[in-house]
Amino acid sequence: MISQQSIQQILSRIDIIEIVGGFVKLKKRGVNYLGLCPFHNEKTPSFTVSPTKEIYKCFGCGRSGNTISFLMDHEKYSYVEALRWLANKYNVDIEETETSPEARQVQQVSDSLYILNNFAQQYFSNTLFTLEEGQDNGLSYLKERGFREEIIKKFQLGYCLQARDAFATTALSAQYNPEILQKSGLTVMRDDKLVDNYRGRIIFPVHNHSGKILGFGARIIGKNDKAPKYINTPENEIYVKSKILYGSYFARQAIDKHDECLLVEGYTDVISLHQAGIENVVASGGTSLTQDQLRLVKKYTNNLTIIYDGDSAGVKAALRGLDMALEEGLNVKLVLIPDKEDPDSYVHKLGAAKFQDFIKANKKDFIIFQLEVSLQDAGSDTTRKAEVVNQVAETISRLNKVEDFTKQQDYIRRSAEMLKIEETGLNALVNKFIRQRISKQEIKLPFDEAKYYEEQTQQKGYEDDTMVLLQKDEVQERALVRCLIEFGLKSWDEHVRVADHIFEEYPDLIDDMRLLRIVEIYKTWHEAGLEPTDKNFLYHEDQQLSREVVSLLDFPYELSHNWKEHFEGKIFTREELYLEEVKSTMNYLKLRKIKKLIEENQKDLERLHTSEEQIILIQTHQHLKQLEIDLTKQMGTVILR
Ligand SMILES: [Zn+2]
Repeated sequence: MISQQSIQQILSRIDIIEIVGGFVKLKKRGVNYLGLCPFHNEKTPSFTVSPTKEIYKCFGCGRSGNTISFLMDHEKYSYVEALRWLANKYNVDIEETETSPEARQVQQVSDSLYILNNFAQQYFSNTLFTLEEGQDNGLSYLKERGFREEIIKKFQLGYCLQARDAFATTALSAQYNPEILQKSGLTVMRDDKLVDNYRGRIIFPVHNHSGKILGFGARIIGKNDKAPKYINTPENEIYVKSKILYGSYFARQAIDKHDECLLVEGYTDVISLHQAGIENVVASGGTSLTQDQLRLVKKYTNNLTIIYDGDSAGVKAALRGLDMALEEGLNVKLVLIPDKEDPDSYVHKLGAAKFQDFIKANKKDFIIFQLEVSLQDAGSDTTRKAEVVNQVAETISRLNKVEDFTKQQDYIRRSAEMLKIEETGLNALVNKFIRQRISKQEIKLPFDEAKYYEEQTQQKGYEDDTMVLLQKDEVQERALVRCLIEFGLKSWDEHVRVADHIFEEYPDLIDDMRLLRIVEIYKTWHEAGLEPTDKNFLYHEDQQLSREVVSLLDFPYELSHNWKEHFEGKIFTREELYLEEVKSTMNYLKLRKIKKLIEENQKDLERLHTSEEQIILIQTHQHLKQLEIDLTKQMGTVILR
C-alpha cells in the first residue's frame, strides 16, 4: 500500500502534457493540445488534452480520462503500477503504509506456503532419485518418456510414494502446520487424519517467474481411466491459476534473447522442448489464455507463437484467448502440430533442428489463419460470409494502439483482398467496432453529462434560476459536494472549516448515493489529517468515481442575476464569495428537507389520530412552517444557480 502522503506528492507533480506527450505527439492549439488518438485509428487529430483540467478527451472515439487512466489504458498498468511509474519518473520516494492485519495475515500464510512447498519439492525429488520405489516407478517412467536426468533435475521433478501418508507424516514431524498442509493441497484430511494427495504420482513443481514454488502438478503414471491424469494445487494465497505460466522462470532469458515466446499446452511439452534446446517456451495449462498470463508474456516480448495439437479442441482453446492477446498489442502466430502428435512427441520424433525448421515454416498469422478457417467454413453462403466480414473487422479493431496502426492497415488491406471487398468499407467497419467498444467501456462520460446540464439551463435561460433550482434538486446536491471539494479547507467561522460544517449536516441534505460516497471518502481523508483537493479525486483508484468528480467540477458555473444585483454590479470571484455559496446551497437543501417533512406531516394529519397526537402534529407543522419562512427569507437575499 502506498501512503496517501506519497500519493499526494506524486499527484502534485503530474504534468499531463509531459506524460501523455511522451506517448502521443501533441501540438498546442489555443489552451489545449491536440494529437492523433492512440485509442482508435485516425488520420486527422481529434485527441485533445487540457492542461488546466488535467484531462484528455478524444472527439473521434469518445475516450477520456486523466493522466493515471491514460497510463492504465495505454500501458496496461494497474492503478498502483501507474503510481509507481510516475513516482519513478518524478523521483518521488514512495512511502508504504503499514499493512493491515488482514494483509499481514495473508502475507504470513503466503510465506508459510512457500516454505512448505520448498520442503515438499526437496522431499519429492529425494524420493524420486534415492528411494527404490521412486527409482522403479517414477524415474524409470520419466526415462522411458525420453527425459534425461539433467532436465529432470533442472525442473526439480519428484515422486510421491504410494503409501497413505508418507509425506504427511514427514511434514508433521518436521513441525509443519496441518492447516497450511491442507491449504497447499499436498495433503487432505480423511477420517481425521492427514493423508497424501498425490500418491504414486510424478510431481511437477510450478515456479513463479523468480523461481519460487507456487504449487505442483501431479501426473499419474501410465493409464488409469478412473483417476484424473493431473491433479493440481487448489487455488490459495500464492497459487492463482489464471496468473501462472508454467516454465516462465526457466524461459525468461531465452524469450528475451529470441524476442519470442512459444506457448504450449502441458508441462511435459515445455520440458521436452527445453531438452531439445528450445528454451523460450511456457505452458498455459490447457485452458484459454487469461489477460494476466498475456501480460506476463508481454513483460518479455511482443511476439507470441502458439504451438498447439492438431486436434480441434486444442485449436479452439487457443483461439479463444487470442482476441485479448491482440488487445495487449502482441503479435500472435499459430503453429499446428500434425494430427495425433503433441509438441512433446513431435520434437522427440523430429529431433531439435527439424522441429525448429518446422515451427519456422509453419507459423501462421493468427488473424489471417482465423479468416482462412472461417472463409472455408462459410463456403459460398453469402449470409455466413457477411458474418465472417463482421468477425474479422471486430478482431482487427482490437489492434488499437498507436504502434499497431500500420499493422492494422496492413490487415485491413490483406483481409479485404481475401474477402474480395472494398478496403475503405472494411476500414469503416473496423472503426465502428472500436467506437462501440469504447462507448461500452465508458458507461458515463463526464463531458456529455456536463453538456446535458448546459443545454438544460440554456434552454430555460438564466432568468429562471429559481425554477431550475426547484426542478433540479440534484443540481443543488451536486453544488454542495462541489463546495466541499473546492472550499472544504477554507474557514467557515473562527472555529471550524467549511468541511466540518458540511459534515454536521450532509446526511440530511444529500440523497444521491454516488454523491454521498464522494462526501464519505472526503471525510475519511480529512479525518486522517490529509488536506484533500480535487486532485485526490481526479486520480482516485476508482475511475468511475474520478469521472463523477470531474463532471461535478466541470459543471458550468455562473452567478445568477439576483446575485449580481445584490452586489451592485461589483465583480467578485467565486473564491471571494465561497461562504455565501456554501450557505445558500445548504439552505436550499435544508428547505427541501423541510418541505418534505411538512408534506409527510400533512399526510400523517390526514389519518385518524387521538386529539393529543393531533396537537403534536399541528405544532410540528407550525414549527416546520416557521423554519421554512426563515430559510426562504435568507435565500431571498442571494440565490445561486
Ligand atoms: Zn480516439
